[in-house]
Amino acid sequence: MHAPWTLTADGVLPPGAVLAADGLNDRVAREGALEIPEVCSETPFPDAASPGAVIRRNRDVVELVERSETIRLGQFWTPVWREQGLGRWYRAIPDPDTGAVTIVRSGAWRTRIVGASDAVRDARRRERTVGPFLGESMGSFYRNGTFGRRLADGGDGAAEDVLLEVAEIVVRTMTGPFVDYLDADLGLWYLPVVDDISHEVVGLLDSDDPATVEAAWAVMARAYELVDSCLGETIAAQRPDGVVVSADHGMAPIRSTFLPNVALRSAGLAIADEHGEADTGASDAWYHEAGTGLVLANARHLEGGYLDTAAATRALRTAVEAICSATDEEGRSAVIMVLDADGNIVEPATVSGVEATLVFRSDVLPVADLPVDDRPWREPRRSAAHVTNDGDTRLAATYVIASPGRSARCLDRDNGEIAGLVNAMLEGKVTVCGSR
Ligand SMILES: [Zn+2]
Repeated sequence: MHAPWTLTADGVLPPGAVLAADGLNDRVAREGALEIPEVCSETPFPDAASPGAVIRRNRDVVELVERSETIRLGQFWTPVWREQGLGRWYRAIPDPDTGAVTIVRSGAWRTRIVGASDAVRDARRRERTVGPFLGESMGSFYRNGTFGRRLADGGDGAAEDVLLEVAEIVVRTMTGPFVDYLDADLGLWYLPVVDDISHEVVGLLDSDDPATVEAAWAVMARAYELVDSCLGETIAAQRPDGVVVSADHGMAPIRSTFLPNVALRSAGLAIADEHGEADTGASDAWYHEAGTGLVLANARHLEGGYLDTAAATRALRTAVEAICSATDEEGRSAVIMVLDADGNIVEPATVSGVEATLVFRSDVLPVADLPVDDRPWREPRRSAAHVTNDGDTRLAATYVIASPGRSARCLDRDNGEIAGLVNAMLEGKVTVCGSR
């Protein structure tokens, strides 16, 4: 398996599992970038994963010096290991106008691989060959222009090429250590690439400019091809009896980012902490960072909660009304529906209890941040999202199933059915615990 949340915090294998890998839970450092002029002797580029990193450049020669090693960097991704299970990728991105070069490096994650000792040893050996684990496609550098000008900003596709280079590393390093592991009844693989790339590009599919739409489709096709080629290699190596490929959701373009906690601060309910998020020890109500639409009043049953039931209900009602009435430029609310704790639809003015769930428009991305300035509506950061399924078919989960005696079929259903489907393929050998 290479899936998030596979292992417990103390590294215990789940019941029935023979080998599990976990890459996403222990990030040691975020991605980083450093712009350097044409000649620079030694520029420190430290962070938690690379405390001693130094970059130097003499015209065309750019080098990373770290731990008494010198590594030449260029316009390709270079793996740099620090120790087993911890490493990262570096690339130089030149600016043709200024002659400057930006050195970009990936985040660094400490991977865990747990199971039979020979299987773990083999996986670690292959990990060494494919390169350090990379957990996401570095969309932040795509969005802020570090990879070059985006298609959305008039770019020529070079920035998307870099984004897809990163996506390929994600695919290779998430699956490579296990691609020919043969000793399992059931293998689970998680690949974030289609999700990552879709968030950046799917919004362009609604563009009025046909050339942009065509270029965006080409990027999406290459993202799917990456996943498809990885699937092909895995199938060729492992020869499974059956394969289920599943998305857990689709993607729809968004027009705005919406910050419910800003509306709550204006209503006197939310207070920011030092991280620019709602302070759950001091706010009467807040929009929960899980991003599920949950709004909570700070009732006494919560850890650190201080409102009695009556006060909490008043705070919740004020909160829901404040969020629903924070309309955009066209006078439209972000919220299409309010649900009480039992999932019943309620009117904002009659909300009771101490929590409610808001259902947002599918073209709005609600974000729990609470920055300094007071505008609840913002330009979208990413081009597409999937927070609320309002019936838009683009948000439906899709899956493909193929096995001997059964031709490949593409289905478009609730992803909650997949566990039952897999169980039927395994003739009931799997105990499904919990729900989706
Ligand atoms: Zn997503």
